[in-house]
Amino acid sequence: MKFYNLKENDEQVSFAGAVKQGLGKNQGLFFPTSMPVLDNIEELLALPMVERSVKVLLPFVEEDLSEAELTEIITDAFNFPAQLQPINPERAILELFHGPTLAFKDFGARFMAKCLQAFCAKDAKASGEDKKLTILTATSGDTGAAVAHAFHGIDNIRVVIMYPKGKISLLQEKMFTTLGDNIETLAIDGDFDDCQALVKQSFDDKELANTIGLNSANSINISRLLAQVCYYFEAVAQLSRVKSDLSSLVFSIPSGNFGNLTAGLFAKAMGLPIKRFIAATNANDTVPRYLETGEWTPHETVATISNAMDVSNPNNWPRVEHMLKTGIVPQDCVSSVSIDEEQTQSTMIGLNKLGYVSEPHAAVAYKALQYSAQEGEFGVFLGTAHPAKFKEVVESILGSPLGLPKELADCAGEVILSTDMPADFTELRAYLLKQ
Ligand SMILES: *Cc1c(COP(=O)(O)O)cnc(C)c1O
Repeated sequence: MKFYNLKENDEQVSFAGAVKQGLGKNQGLFFPTSMPVLDNIEELLALPMVERSVKVLLPFVEEDLSEAELTEIITDAFNFPAQLQPINPERAILELFHGPTLAFKDFGARFMAKCLQAFCAKDAKASGEDKKLTILTATSGDTGAAVAHAFHGIDNIRVVIMYPKGKISLLQEKMFTTLGDNIETLAIDGDFDDCQALVKQSFDDKELANTIGLNSANSINISRLLAQVCYYFEAVAQLSRVKSDLSSLVFSIPSGNFGNLTAGLFAKAMGLPIKRFIAATNANDTVPRYLETGEWTPHETVATISNAMDVSNPNNWPRVEHMLKTGIVPQDCVSSVSIDEEQTQSTMIGLNKLGYVSEPHAAVAYKALQYSAQEGEFGVFLGTAHPAKFKEVVESILGSPLGLPKELADCAGEVILSTDMPADFTELRAYLLKQ
């Protein structure tokens, strides 16, 4: 299977090419040249998650990875569960936050890290020399932690993560700045946009990019999306054990860059029985407005308590649009709802009364489900982060203290190893070129 550039259709690469390159020419996203349709869904659902995931992903990667290699990668990457928890007879949450950094991004980042590691090793063998890669990424929270933990200790891959100094919570900071070894962190004197601008300048500097083998590991990388397809299969597998009729299954997805929705649509296109999707956003409502009016008019990004979804120009949308427009999935299988801050808070309180402690992102998705699910539909919403990652907000809304899970408690006492740096490309360039 090849992947082609949605903007420059002549550009085609294999899976390894798409993973190493990230983005195609003219900032185009890579997309599979054909969507594998699985005709043995029931058989697949009966398998354990790792085994099933190998079968689901093999058609995409078989040009570059054998079944045995893919099995090794997935076994390493998915070493924690995706867990469906019932909320009431018609609703369940798919908890995706049981990985090392307590967010669903662990699935994609870990799979990507293991794939890159395998491809680097193959390249080194073919060329007879070790080529070093540098992952440069900007983070305002979850991505940095997931990427840092996923790549920690991998030979020949250097990871440099930039974040806005003083603008993320201490616990968030400690989750990715205390690892050391091949994980370097830069506390930038500026805001998140400054950090992103520095990443962009680095990629635009072709000499720098080539010298240090630059890659970004961000959520447009096809490997991250493919990993996420697997937990939709896992959710349906768990559901099929307790429910005989799966014909009215709806997923509600808390959306920022729309990677999770893209992965869900892949799963549907491959034959997984999902009736439709609700893309839930916070006040950053470019997509719901677009689906209603047909006009793409992003507003200025606004800050909300579901801050991982504070995105006004979602970078995965071209993939969603492509699938809807070309009939890879039915045009009417995606709707979108924007949920405001007050609704988010009251939903967290409502869920708490049902016995479930939720953080703001999942609450947005649950509310969207309550708002637009029809009679007889069974709704699954995605739990994208552990509530303890948003401890202050959750405690203040629910009015009760929250314990820290081990992953967070462990890093709370560690020393931050970051280097301070002004938001200045000349300094960053010099830093990246030394060592
Ligand atoms: C990244 C993130 C999202 C948004 O996911 P997309 O795939 O970018 O739409 C939602 N919730 C949390 C907690 C996240 O970290």
